[in-house]
Order: sequence, then structure tokens, then C-alpha cells
Amino acid sequence: MALSLPFFPPLKEDKGLPSAAPYGLRKIEAQLLKEDFDVIILDPSHIEEHISKAKVLGIYVMDPFGLGPASSTLASILKNEPYLAKYFQVLVSNPVVKLRKRNGLKIIVGGPGAWQFQYRKKFVEEFSIDCIVEGEAEAVIGSIFRAAICGEHLPKFYEVGIKETPSLEKIPDIVSPSINGLVEIGRGCCRGCEFCSVTQKPLRWYPFDKIQREIDVNIKSDKVNGCCLHAEDVMLYGSRNTLPVEKKLVKLHELVMKKINRGFSWSHCSLAAVASKPKVFSRIAETIVEKQGWWGAEIGIETGSPEIAKKIMPSKAHPFKAEDWNDVVRLGMGLMNDNGLVPACTLIVGLPGEREEDVAKTMDLLDDLRGFRSLIVPLFFVPLGRMRRKDWFKRTEMSELHKQLLLQCTEHDFYWVDSLLEIAFKGKWYERLLREFYKAFAGIAKRKVRQLESASFQNEYP
Ligand code: SF4
Repeated sequence: MALSLPFFPPLKEDKGLPSAAPYGLRKIEAQLLKEDFDVIILDPSHIEEHISKAKVLGIYVMDPFGLGPASSTLASILKNEPYLAKYFQVLVSNPVVKLRKRNGLKIIVGGPGAWQFQYRKKFVEEFSIDCIVEGEAEAVIGSIFRAAICGEHLPKFYEVGIKETPSLEKIPDIVSPSINGLVEIGRGCCRGCEFCSVTQKPLRWYPFDKIQREIDVNIKSDKVNGCCLHAEDVMLYGSRNTLPVEKKLVKLHELVMKKINRGFSWSHCSLAAVASKPKVFSRIAETIVEKQGWWGAEIGIETGSPEIAKKIMPSKAHPFKAEDWNDVVRLGMGLMNDNGLVPACTLIVGLPGEREEDVAKTMDLLDDLRGFRSLIVPLFFVPLGRMRRKDWFKRTEMSELHKQLLLQCTEHDFYWVDSLLEIAFKGKWYERLLREFYKAFAGIAKRKVRQLESASFQNEYP
């Protein structure tokens, strides 16, 4: 248990009220408060102290059954049930929750992992979950909670339709701090990748004053250090197409960096937007690295096969052509490396229709990225977005080349891990202690993977 602490740090809380909560949950809290509900957000380990007064228990889920790409990939390789799934089960199995449920408590579930309940309908019945809400819920959550309190009929699954997607004016500001100081700057994405559910949402960008107000909520609370700007592509802030808008991006970063001294990051950005405007990117990078030496973001590489890129993500490279995807990746990664952005990149393994030659092209691309400080994470294909009716990719379907690709990613990450640990903990009082701990952990992991590596070539995998 003690060993898991650095990876699962406990929530900071006061009498069960967390000092920071997931951003999406803070939005729902803000909406319910706006509609005069009596609502509190609780650390799940303190649920017993408050549940007796509750009429509705809302549960926010990220990855309740470990079916998300990251957990399902790791779990199938390590052959373990994901932690998130274990903890979710513990929460809904709590005898106090079960007792209150028999006395009329309603359970409503929502959050980014809500889609997974479609695959676990028996579980929904077994644990008497009343309603699962999927999508941007600000415009509908009040009616759903009201119906629950009044004992009216609730649909088992509620998928928020496009017409119910809230406009900018209808999205309330968060009223309490969010984890990692995360603040949304916009919703939606115009690139339309087949495997992504975000693409079905309309594109909206928040104005500067809304973003500033939410950052203030976080920094004034004294409970949160730093700020993570969240959008599907931060580089496209304020843009109606795939080209960055210099004026808006520069102003946004000047405003934010005036408020933040350290702990700044982006949630996601695209290689194409960076590659399309290198000077704009460098200008923003200057504003950021003046305050801190580097910053991070999640980046989707997905494939090194131009044929696959053309088929399932034809606009991911835009304004460049889909067939030039690998050049865009190399250029974008080079610019990030030179300007202080450390990307955590994802690859999709086992896309429908993927051939051995597609995997080989991805491996060639990875070779070219070896010199760029980054993490590269391979994820098994999970059917989402317009590909939701396709088959899941399973570990047993891994070809010899897939295994080599996974090992190549691991080697890339181990090559960079020491340098990433150095910069991640630099300047913190516990720098030496934690760095040494993670280094030791990385050393053990390296040894394990190398053992696996030699086992895999002896065909240990089924
Ligand atoms: S660019 Fe990213 S967010 Fe946009 S559709 Fe593609 S995968 Fe989804």
C-alpha cells in the first residue's frame, strides 16, 4: 500500500471535502448550485459521514471498468484488473450505499468514462444504478436530478444530444478548485478522426475573461499550484479552422503566464498546428519558458502509416496532406523538442484493417523520433466515435511485429526517463528523494520489460 502512495497520492481533503476535484465534476457542481440544488462534492472514502442526508448520489467516472485505452492496454499486458475498476467496484459495493439505496437513494453516474456502462448492462442492474448520463450535461443535469428527487421515471441511459449541447453562455464557471488547476479554454474539435468521440461535439472557444475567472478560482483558493489549459488542441485556441490564430494565442498565454509562476501545462495539442506555424509556436514557447524551463502536453501520433492516416484521420495533418503525415510528425516533434514542450505521445495498436506493413511504417517513424525528448505510449484500439461498432483489439491478436513495436516504445521511454525525472522534480524540496524513488522504480520496470522482451522472442505470448 505504502509503495502505491507516490502513484496514487490520497486526495487532500477537509472533513471529506476535497481541496480540488476533477474539472468536469466541478462544472456539474457549478450548474447544480446555479439551479439551487444543495450539493457537495465528497472524497469517496468519506461517503458514510454524509450519505444519510443525500437524496441523490452522483458518481463521476473516468474509467470505471478499466476499458479506456490506457488501462485496457496495461491490464491486458500485465494481466491484472486495473486499479480504477477495482476502486469503482469498492465504492458501489459499500454497504452504507446499498442500505441507503434500499431506502430510496438514487444513483446517477456521469463523466468521461460513462460510455463503458453500455458494455456492462448487467452491472448497472446488479448495483441498481438509476441513470447513466453520457456527454456534456450542463443543460440537462438539473432536470435529471429534479426527476430523481421527485421520484419520477429516469432513463437508464441518457445520451446528451447535439441540440442539448450547451452554448458557451450556458456553461457556468467552476466555483471551486479543479485538480492540477485544469481550466478549459474550449470544447470540440474540427479534425473529425473516425476513432474519436470528441469530433461529434460543436467547436466552441471560451473568451479570455471566462478563462481568467476560472484560473482565479484555482489560484485564490491556495489549494492548487499551476494551471493546465485544456482543449483538444490548445494551439487552435480561437480558430475556426486548422490554422493557429497568432493574436489570440499570444494574448491568452501572456494573460495566463502573468498569473502562474510554475506548474503550467497544456492538456493536448496537435503536431499539425505546431508544424503549420513554427514562428507562432516559438513565440508562445518563449512566454512559457521564461517562467518555467519546459511544459508538457498529450499528442496523438496514432500511426506511422500514411495509408491508415488517410483512411481514419484524413484531417489530422491539415493544413498538410494526410499522406504527408509522417513529415508533419517529424517536423512537429522537432519543433517541440527545440522549444521546451515535452510531449506524451499516443499510438494506436491494432486499428481495424491494419496490415503488417502499416506496423512496420510506424516502427520506422519511431526510429526517427528517438532523438526527441518525449514519452511514446502504445494503446490498443478501443472502438469509439464513428468506429464504435468495430471490434476491440485484444492482446491475443498481437503479431510478432506488434510486440516489437510495444518494446520499441518502452525502449524509447526508458531512454528518456532519467532526463524527464530530472526536469519534473527540479527545484522541489523533495526533489532528490522522489527522483531517486522513481529512478529505482524505473530501474525495476526496465529489468522486467527486458525479461519480457527475451521471453517474447521465445514466443511466450499465446
Ligand atoms: S484531432 Fe484529436 S480530438 Fe480531434 S478528432 Fe482527432 S483524435 Fe479527436
